[in-house]
Amino acid sequence: EGHKILDAMSGLWCVNVGYGQRTLIDAATRQLQELPFYNAFFQTATPPAIELAELLSEVTPPQFNHVFFTGSGSEGNDTIVRMVRRYWDILGQPERQVIISRQNAYHGSTMAGASLGGMSGMHAQGGLPIPGIEHIGQPYWVEHGRGMSRDEFGLVAARWLEDKILAIGAQKVAAFIGEPVQGAGGVIIPPATYWPEIQRICDKYGILLVSDEVICGFGRTGRWFGCETFGTRPDLMTFAKGVTSGYIPLGGVMVGDRVAKVLIEQGGEFEHGYTYSGHPVACAVALANIKLVRELGLVEHVRDDVGPYLAQCYEGLRDHPLVGTAETCGLMGALLLVKDKTTLVPFDPALSIGMVCRGHCFANGLIMRAVGNRMIIAPPLVITRTQIDDMMALIRRCLDLTLADAQREGWLA
Ligand code: PMP
Repeated sequence: EGHKILDAMSGLWCVNVGYGQRTLIDAATRQLQELPFYNAFFQTATPPAIELAELLSEVTPPQFNHVFFTGSGSEGNDTIVRMVRRYWDILGQPERQVIISRQNAYHGSTMAGASLGGMSGMHAQGGLPIPGIEHIGQPYWVEHGRGMSRDEFGLVAARWLEDKILAIGAQKVAAFIGEPVQGAGGVIIPPATYWPEIQRICDKYGILLVSDEVICGFGRTGRWFGCETFGTRPDLMTFAKGVTSGYIPLGGVMVGDRVAKVLIEQGGEFEHGYTYSGHPVACAVALANIKLVRELGLVEHVRDDVGPYLAQCYEGLRDHPLVGTAETCGLMGALLLVKDKTTLVPFDPALSIGMVCRGHCFANGLIMRAVGNRMIIAPPLVITRTQIDDMMALIRRCLDLTLADAQREGWLA
């Protein structure tokens, strides 16, 4: 219809290299012509899957030298559940079954993915969570940490993990899983003290640490993986989305040496796999995508240029009457819309202030997502400073329109 839209959500946190990248399209076409499918069961594989496994071990932290391919992030997290329980089985500790996650986390929509996730709306449908999954509070300072400094709160929130481990009994806990930055939960950026303390606690009790990098992976936070930005050494990492920039479905689990050694050397066959694990066309696109991310220097572009620039622009939004907090991490941003910015008093949830703002965004050519009263963005990593300026002008306009609605309706009183 001739409307111009700035997609500040990269589709669904995935189109990191932007739309219309010829090398990805060509890679898919070539692979479809050469070999459209072969499976990865029974000791077989295709060249793109083998080459991608090699490249992934290069761009991920050094402990990762094995990969298990899946078709999506949800399948990746299902794989994680089976893999960590299998790991402890092989080591003769089958009672280590429990995986600890967090409220308001998002780990997918399959039975295990949605169980690991901490979305109460999802748990209410379909008899979830499945047994052996426990949740602790999220490191969301506005909700749980007021009255403390952010750094103090980071330690407090991390220690909820220790409390939970002790309540369950450490000998029953298999793993802890978390997104470096909770994405679908509203871009909840944890205090800098949070993840190092989580790592310390996992080490202390010997439990596996899983980093769900489905959103944070492949440059989003300004490093290749979110765990590098926040200073953890995960044993397993889930990935999807940015691995192919969403051009074609692909996901997987990076398996750290600690787990791989046990599974492979002591475990024999791991009875797990999907028809589309290591799909050659998806792997060919992923190869082209990761090579493009490297060629364009997109991780450095986020870390050194557009990431800091976006942070500076968001600081400038803090003076807006509706904005309670404005935060970014790499190319993720969140604005908390509040009724009173000094006390951070929220709007009545029944007013759906976020959806009002989102309505203005869509009508004005900006895709910004509402999660409750948080307005979130995750633009493509190829975005330029000039495009960020355009985006900021749109954001400001939509905030002003939302403010005008709130004033007219008397919601600020
Ligand atoms: N983990 C995280 C952190 C996610 O954001 C998502 C999807 N938004 C998933 C897992 C699930 O991935 P998929 O939708 O590909 O199954």
